[in-house]
Amino acid sequence: MRSETVYLDYAATTPVDHRVLEAMHPYFSVSFGNPSSVHRWGQKAEAAVERSRAHIAQIMGCLPSEIIFTSCGTESDNLALRGAAYHALKNRGAKHILIPPVEHHAILHTAQDLAENHGFELEYLPVDSFGRVKAQELEARIRPDTAIVSVMYANNEIGTINPIQTLAQICRSKHVPFHSDAVQAASQLPIDVNALGVDILSIGAHKFYGPKGVGALYVRSGIDLHATQTGGSQEATLRAGTHNVPLIVGMAKAIEITQSEREIHNHHFEHLRNQILSSVQREIPDVRISGHPEIRLPNHASFVFDGIDGNQLLVALDIAGFGCSSGSACKTGNPEPSEVLTAIGIEDGWALGSLRVTVGRQTTQEDIDSFLQILPTVISKLRNLNG
Ligand code: PLP
Repeated sequence: MRSETVYLDYAATTPVDHRVLEAMHPYFSVSFGNPSSVHRWGQKAEAAVERSRAHIAQIMGCLPSEIIFTSCGTESDNLALRGAAYHALKNRGAKHILIPPVEHHAILHTAQDLAENHGFELEYLPVDSFGRVKAQELEARIRPDTAIVSVMYANNEIGTINPIQTLAQICRSKHVPFHSDAVQAASQLPIDVNALGVDILSIGAHKFYGPKGVGALYVRSGIDLHATQTGGSQEATLRAGTHNVPLIVGMAKAIEITQSEREIHNHHFEHLRNQILSSVQREIPDVRISGHPEIRLPNHASFVFDGIDGNQLLVALDIAGFGCSSGSACKTGNPEPSEVLTAIGIEDGWALGSLRVTVGRQTTQEDIDSFLQILPTVISKLRNLNG
């Protein structure tokens, strides 16, 4: 059944699964101890943190000691990039950072800060018109003084999936650490770190039906990072601060559910998403898919429309009861095309009219039917209004 309002922005965040809520509940009040305390309350909390770490490690195919808890995907990305860059500079004088220009701001702005304020040299890895990094481009640019290479597993804005195994293999052969931002990917793609071959990998729980405010960083043993948050000795001194026990427990439960039910959910997502891709292209003139048509996240549809203001489109859809997202950021009434869409070569006139529709576990066939019924009318009204 179609509800009155339809949430189609699961790439922005997801509702917490009821099983995750249940798992977290006791750790807010009954088992509330600080894992760093010596007494039994502390031990109980510490045991919960270590059980969660072991569980996440098992799912990601790594050692528990290779999992560092953080407060979100952004913090994981910061620790990965800054931690690897500072360590490489101190230990081998390496200053070169390689990232594609389509990374999430958590990576992009961090790399830019390292270059502008901390003496690093930032080079952008070119991407193709789908936003993918090509192996040859990485081969050609990687240098002995490359401190870190970071390439996202799947793009949040355009859904495109990168050939992470191949890119990781190139970095390994050149002895340069390779980080991947898997914050979007972890909700739908396998995250076995050995199969992927990555050295460092970021995840954040709220993208996979876990709570907001918690994330993790996988750091392969032998890869050293410089701590960016100092204080207590938590997380092997890499990330000081009292553990957020309930959220860590919730993240472990959420990743277990997500990875064990992955195929069922992906099948549901893909079925609905494919209807969105084909119906929008069939029913609406002057529209293009942004990102790769096939090598993309199963739940992710994204478009650019000629002659449409993306922000107006989101407001019109919201009024009609649908929650979607757009790539362009409206700054003081002066809309700017997104860096991602510009980097993949989409002209401003189209890039300003972007739309991201992401489905989730709660999305029904009726939701999509009604969305696909209303979207052509909304687009045509906005075009008439502006044209
Ligand atoms: N990286 C990617 C690819 C994302 O999509 C996001 C969130 O949208 C982040 C990083 C930041 O994650 P968080 O919201 O957990 O800080």
